[in-house]
Amino acid sequence: METKGNSEHVRCLIIGSGPAGYTAAIYAARANLNPVLYTGLQMGGQLTTTTEIENFPGYPEGVSGNDMMEDFRRQAERFGTDIRFGIATDVDFSGKVRKVVIDGEKHIEADAVIIATGATARYLGLEAEKKYAGQGVSACATCDGFFYRNRDVAVVGGGDTAAEEATYLASLCNKVYMIVRRDELRASKAMQERVMKTPNIEILWEHQAIDLFGEKGVEGAVLVKKKGTPLEETVKIDIHGFFLAIGHTPNSDIFKKYVDTDEAGYIKTIAGTSKTNVQGVFAAGDIQDPRYRQAVTAAGSGCMAAIDVERYLAESR
Ligand code: NDP
Repeated sequence: METKGNSEHVRCLIIGSGPAGYTAAIYAARANLNPVLYTGLQMGGQLTTTTEIENFPGYPEGVSGNDMMEDFRRQAERFGTDIRFGIATDVDFSGKVRKVVIDGEKHIEADAVIIATGATARYLGLEAEKKYAGQGVSACATCDGFFYRNRDVAVVGGGDTAAEEATYLASLCNKVYMIVRRDELRASKAMQERVMKTPNIEILWEHQAIDLFGEKGVEGAVLVKKKGTPLEETVKIDIHGFFLAIGHTPNSDIFKKYVDTDEAGYIKTIAGTSKTNVQGVFAAGDIQDPRYRQAVTAAGSGCMAAIDVERYLAESR
């Protein structure tokens, strides 16, 4: 990574604007670390694509993901966080000063870096998903559900996200198929009950989507139904929207040259801390958490990262 003229030095650089990034910013700003936070592509992170959040303490009536992240942002800004749009595109953690490139052109040199880049929705890997991207294929029901009002749609997956998206879509659409690869849901009991009680959701147990078809946009999906090994049956459903809800991949690619990750790409932190294997580089939120992945745990780890940075900078003075 070359350092060009377009370079700036900061004490504490935070990459990411989900609950982890903003909470780290609140703590770092209040500790006079003058944090600079780059938001990434999706300001506010994954929660801005969810519907109602009912399990974040402090919101007894529930809150929309957008409203909550706006509260986080305002609180981080109130204490002086310098919040900027931009995506980290490369890093060089080989020297004592950590270098991060933003949008391929701006070079930041930081005394400490907090990685809070979260995770991105996964796709099945079908050619048809690419072909119909933006034309019926989506990984965000809250963003795109509106376009499929009164139509039939499908949600792939059986976790909490799939259950949440299916019930949300059921309130807009004529019919919602849930395409579930096993004979049970992974979603919590409360979410399962919500799905079961929604009359216009039909669960297609032990089905896998293998293709999509349609002239201009999606008009249907081809599924394989398991009938007991090795028997399989191909079925077609008529749908206009195909929503993926099969989990997420951590956004750690640019850091892997320097920072240790597990086989799934989650950044490894030293137990009970936010420290990575690289001194001065810390990780918080979903990027380092394959287990809990909750907004409140992400926020908690953002707090840990800011405190770890504060101590690190004090010790390395
Ligand atoms: P999960 O990993 O929990 O679930 C993924 C689902 O997709 C599973 O049913 C899985 O099937 C299925 N799946 C994965 N890969 C494929 C594939 N290739 N083909 C077909 N199906 C596939 O992810 P979620 O995004 O649902 O949830 C992530 C975390 O966030 C969880 O901890 C969840 O509890 C939490 N969450 C909480 C919410 C809330 O509290 N309001 C809302 C949303 C998420 P299988 O079960 O067979 O592996």
